[in-house]
Amino acid sequence: MFERLPTPYGLVRYGLAPDHPETEAILHSLHAMLVAGNTRLFCNVEIATGLSVDDQRSSYAAVIIATGALRDAPLDIPGVDLSGSLGAADSVGWYDDHPDAPQHWLLHTESVAVIGGGNVALDVTRMPLSEAQSLQATDVSDEVQAGIVVSLVREVHIFVRRGPADARFSPKELRALGELPGVDVVVDAADVAPDRHIARMTKQLVHTQLAVETLRTFADAISAERTAQRRVYLHLCRQPAEILGDGKVEALRVDRTDPDGYGHLTASGVCTDYTVQAVYRVIGYVCTPLAGLPFDHGRGTVPHRSAAVVERERSTDRGPVRDRMDEERRLPQPGSDQR
Ligand SMILES: Cc1cc2nc3c(=O)[nH]c(=O)nc-3n(C[C@H](O)[C@H](O)[C@H](O)COP(=O)(O)OP(=O)(O)OC[C@H]3O[C@@H](n4cnc5c(N)ncnc54)[C@H](O)[C@@H]3O)c2cc1C
Repeated sequence: MFERLPTPYGLVRYGLAPDHPETEAILHSLHAMLVAGNTRLFCNVEIATGLSVDDQRSSYAAVIIATGALRDAPLDIPGVDLSGSLGAADSVGWYDDHPDAPQHWLLHTESVAVIGGGNVALDVTRMPLSEAQSLQATDVSDEVQAGIVVSLVREVHIFVRRGPADARFSPKELRALGELPGVDVVVDAADVAPDRHIARMTKQLVHTQLAVETLRTFADAISAERTAQRRVYLHLCRQPAEILGDGKVEALRVDRTDPDGYGHLTASGVCTDYTVQAVYRVIGYVCTPLAGLPFDHGRGTVPHRSAAVVERERSTDRGPVRDRMDEERRLPQPGSDQR
């Protein structure tokens, strides 16, 4: 195994939220595999710069490329490059001490927007609102703990493009958000109002049913009982339209998306501006090309067929790669059922 970082375990080490140490149990299994005696691990070796893919090929019978997804998926809206607009890779990298991440996070801001509807968006929301003592039992570094102690963040607005039945939050992570000490979670009842699509999805999938129930519990809370100093506003059916500001983030403009009751959404053009000083974009990671290997920019993958790299697909141009691969998929495969 060759690893570019000084330590192994990839995003299990540098991606999982440190306040949920139980999810890191997988580290023990990975460690057991590494010390079993039939693996050699070389850290601080970057394939493509330190050692080429061709070097590897000439030394081994097979080379498996498992370099993960290192970069944030792009969000193509005006203002995305303003100071204070950060991708998840930087935010998560900071609290997980990734060697490539910035040394500071934007914790001197009071209002933050998080764009994204998955569990990582919830991680990135929880961390600046965590109480330092709750992090003491975890493996976060002293620097990160010290940063969180002085966090000024008082409100986080999470914006999810889709509705409650299609958000990617797991019920467990949603409940954990509601249990964060000193934090109230606010959901607008209109965002979780019943419709045909929600009814269908909650009947089909237990985890969707549990997630929708949890979101409705947040929406049902009596506002007089919301007394915490800090708040998370979870907005569903809202997509980011523009990050506003003069040199730095001052607000996020979001467009309401209208569900049609069948699981489809259309942008309504009804926009609202939220005053925030930082925007965290948490919309997924993408793979990056590796020198010496073809790359399909359209799919964000190394072109492959039956798990083997498609050698002649050297083109980095999206169209022909996609066309050729689609064509290959249409060809009958040996032994396949051709009816
Ligand atoms: C922020 C975040 C939170 C997550 N939380 C959870 C969770 O709670 N539960 C869960 O089940 N999953 C979670 N996931 C998903 C999980 O981390 C990934 O599915 C898993 O780590 C993917 O494993 P991998 O080996 O494919 O890639 P990675 O874990 O990314 O490992 C790839 C490794 O390759 C190395 N590498 C890259 N390029 C090179 C190169 N050129 N030369 C040598 N080495 C290289 C990288 O440094 C890295 O160590 C999370 C993901 C993210 C991003």
